[in-house]
Amino acid sequence: METICKINSGKTFTHATIGELSTFVGKQFIKECVGTTSCEISFGTLNPGQTAPFFHSHKQNEEIYIVLRGAGDFQIDNITFPVAEGSIVRIATHSSRSLRCTSATSMLYICIQAKEGSLEQYTLNDGFITEQTPIWK
Ligand code: ZN
Repeated sequence: METICKINSGKTFTHATIGELSTFVGKQFIKECVGTTSCEISFGTLNPGQTAPFFHSHKQNEEIYIVLRGAGDFQIDNITFPVAEGSIVRIATHSSRSLRCTSATSMLYICIQAKEGSLEQYTLNDGFITEQTPIWK
């Protein structure tokens, strides 16, 4: 079910929403709607006791999972460990991963896929202060 909704866009931006995170259920990728060119991001939920439907691996992209709500177990190859709200897990290419929800409430997470080794500059090495005049009231 498509839950992402484009709100507005301009020459240099796209603004979309998946709605309130507290009521979001399922899996939603954002790339096609938002037009990202450097990464794919998805929102996912798992119900209490639910396990992701399969183990999977990536050829080119590392993945970063950020747990926003709930708790569970991660398995990466033959290592398993608990995760909870606030956990950040980075997984390299060519390793098999899955997760399951162990909390009484559903687990909500964000998964970011980006090409492993592609980040060349960031934060102060990439960003710079501009002279833009604020127009909000
Ligand atoms: Zn993946």
